[in-house]
Amino acid sequence: MKYVTLKIMIVLCILSLASQATAWHDQTHLAICKATGFDMWYHCAGPDIAKIKAGNIESYNHWFNNSAEVEITPQMVMDQIERYNKRNKILDPEGHILGAIIASLRAYEKDLRSGKYALYHLVYCAHYISDLSMPLHNIAYDDFNEEHHNANDGIVEDTILKEPEKISKHMYPITLRKKDFEADLAREIARVANLSRKLGYKLRAEKRDMTKQEAYIQLGHSASLLRAVLQHYNQVPASAKSAVN
Ligand SMILES: [Zn+2]
Repeated sequence: MKYVTLKIMIVLCILSLASQATAWHDQTHLAICKATGFDMWYHCAGPDIAKIKAGNIESYNHWFNNSAEVEITPQMVMDQIERYNKRNKILDPEGHILGAIIASLRAYEKDLRSGKYALYHLVYCAHYISDLSMPLHNIAYDDFNEEHHNANDGIVEDTILKEPEKISKHMYPITLRKKDFEADLAREIARVANLSRKLGYKLRAEKRDMTKQEAYIQLGHSASLLRAVLQHYNQVPASAKSAVN
């Protein structure tokens, strides 16, 4: 009997860990998208709005809590793709942002092929790539994460749209080869996720919020990766370096 009670408590605990707050606040999302030159930058907070009605069907696309604190590999990214838009709290309590990025692009390509209006899928992808650089979306949702989440989400919110150079100066070229697009993208998603989770551990060890400078660097990772994806789909001008592939 005691064992059953313990099991129920563990499940309840997992369920409570699975529901959590937002990520970067709205203007921070817009600023990341705007820094890439994406025409639809003004929609980039939209996937957070979708959570109000879609609930966990949408929410689980926005984070990966990585409670085991393992190094993210490209294979882990690929393994999460089929969990997109699913909300299995028992089997998938940690979320699946890593796979959601590629899955949203597959949805984009599918609608393009069938002649539908497809751009909103790119907006979802842009939002997920932005959330990927939020350190607290890449580590366990523990007491530290819960207490510091909101402050870190909004760390540059009040000023970032007026200071686009704070992001652009941290942007760098990323090459996603045409013929190996998903493999290259999975590698880059894993790279940014690992940088983000390591910053998350640092913040936790030092019991503090991000500095603005740390946030700008994180936003630069998201904007760089998003720009490379948008270049792949000819949604922003290709830079000289990443056009060669
Ligand atoms: Zn989000």
